[in-house]
Amino acid sequence: MKHIWSPWRMEYIQSFKKEEGCIFCKEISLPDGPGNLIVHRGQFNCVILNRFPYTSGHIMVVPYQHCSLLEELDPESRSEMMELASQAVCLLQVDYKSEGFNIGINIGEASGAGIAEHLHLHIVPRWQGDTNFMSTLGETRVLPEMLEESYTRISEAWKGVKSAKDTPETIFDDSEKNK
Ligand SMILES: [Zn+2]
Repeated sequence: MKHIWSPWRMEYIQSFKKEEGCIFCKEISLPDGPGNLIVHRGQFNCVILNRFPYTSGHIMVVPYQHCSLLEELDPESRSEMMELASQAVCLLQVDYKSEGFNIGINIGEASGAGIAEHLHLHIVPRWQGDTNFMSTLGETRVLPEMLEESYTRISEAWKGVKSAKDTPETIFDDSEKNK
């Protein structure tokens, strides 16, 4: 099995260990923009860019409810979490030409969760051969500069997303398609 090499992840985990309180609750309380990296807000969850992504377009669905376990989360929040994940997958297929995805939730410290106290769903877009690509990217450390660009691109794209039954073919409304 090939692994994506992303040394900046450790810096990320260490930086948040120093923070007081929950980083997700803090970001949810801030106005949306490149500062908090929230690209979209649903009724029960927000969609936020990962500050130290595994790949470009690595986003997370984060419930507003602060809890660490899936079974503690309100059923409405759980349902919407999966709906937003589905929309994200469609959006990334169209906008980033993603060819595959790793989607998952790390539950508990033992799972390797960076922020175990506030549940979040990772969506990591993948492309054929991206493990080699990411090694190069990690060494040159261009990702911090790319983050603001990713923010603009994904938050703008999400404005055109329709509310339900999305597929890669239908996710954007007509005004977006005609651009
Ligand atoms: Zn929290």
